[in-house]
Amino acid sequence: MERLKTKDDESQIFKTGDFSIELNCQANNEYTKVSYPLKYGVFSRLETQDYIFEFNLNHEIRHAKSKKKNWIHPSEWLKRTMGNDWVYYSSGGYSGVYEALGEYYLPNLMYQTNSLLGGKPFNEKAIDEIVKNWHQMICQLPETHMPDRFSRWIDAIQQQTPEGLQKKAQQLFDISGSRVTVMPPDARHVDYNIIPLTISDGCLYKCRFCKIKNKKKFAVRSKQDIDTQIKQLRQLYDKDLINFNALFLGEHDALNSPCDLILKTAQDAYDAFEFQTSVMKKNYLFMFGSVDSFLNADQAFFETLNCLPFQTFINIGLESYDQSTLDILGKPITSEKVGLAFQKIQLINNTAANIEISCNFVMDETLPKSHYTALMSLVRESVNRTKPKGSVYLSPLTFGRPSRQVLYDFYKLKSMSRFPTFLYLIQRL
Ligand code: SF4
Repeated sequence: MERLKTKDDESQIFKTGDFSIELNCQANNEYTKVSYPLKYGVFSRLETQDYIFEFNLNHEIRHAKSKKKNWIHPSEWLKRTMGNDWVYYSSGGYSGVYEALGEYYLPNLMYQTNSLLGGKPFNEKAIDEIVKNWHQMICQLPETHMPDRFSRWIDAIQQQTPEGLQKKAQQLFDISGSRVTVMPPDARHVDYNIIPLTISDGCLYKCRFCKIKNKKKFAVRSKQDIDTQIKQLRQLYDKDLINFNALFLGEHDALNSPCDLILKTAQDAYDAFEFQTSVMKKNYLFMFGSVDSFLNADQAFFETLNCLPFQTFINIGLESYDQSTLDILGKPITSEKVGLAFQKIQLINNTAANIEISCNFVMDETLPKSHYTALMSLVRESVNRTKPKGSVYLSPLTFGRPSRQVLYDFYKLKSMSRFPTFLYLIQRL
């Protein structure tokens, strides 16, 4: 596969009275947290009198917004994910987005999740119009004579139909055998632009409360299977691979895979996806771990991981430090082990500069008071000063029913926590 040479590739602009095209726009090359919309990587843009559409290097739509008066806010936009979902990024109107999520923009999803913030933007006419008709809109451009390069590009974006994009999303799911039903919360650092590579299936506990688990017994993939996935992912991401710098090792407990398999896969993927020449600065590695896989992973593993060319984020589901709550949740681990895992998390976070271990706890109105008392003993009383690293994510248990009380409880917990504390918004790829 040939890599796109972007350095010497000047962006090219074509304009008529009705629309304009800008090819190979080079946007920000580093993920940054700012309160205004930033675009990343290399992409091409079509702007009409009413709309702005952006396309990746495979000519697939990736962002869209309307310039009409009925668009909710000029700095908000729609993003299409690799799984072919539309996500609406909202800013104003919902106070406290940054405090709650650690990001300035709130992803509003088309499917039910555990979000406590946001409204129902997909019920808005202006948004619905784009989601349903974007392809028609780009196929109805007025006839204009334009240089070859631009007319070829227009042809190419028109060929990427909604049906074709849905098929491509299915191809992505087929590579590993299933869709990524939940991304780690830390993937927010790269706006969820991850390449998913499955090294093991299933999880250890099959907790009763969990809505994202599957029936698969935990099993490690063979090296050959992983190599095939890497090859197919390279083909699927194709020319747009250059815009990616983040790898997600799935599935729900990749950390329970043999250490050498994790390390070798991360390095192999880094090489195969040519992350060293990504237009995006830095490289990121994300995975989930469980209390047991994390406690079993030895010091030598973390030392080697720390030396890989990644900033690594491992998210551990602790859920509760209170035994009665763990029992209610049907999570077959002891609070004692949760405490030990929390201690070990601090050790790794204090010593490994390129690794951040984050953890999740659940939240719900129905949980006993002892859950919150125990949580405070970890996130407040176990340390005597504020920690810059080691995010604690609080995950509302209920889907599709935002609760003011739970949001209020979250802000209260956050104000008392000595760790960076955020809501975990469950999103699929
Ligand atoms: S919370 Fe984690 S370990 Fe428990 S069932 Fe869900 S995915 Fe599996």
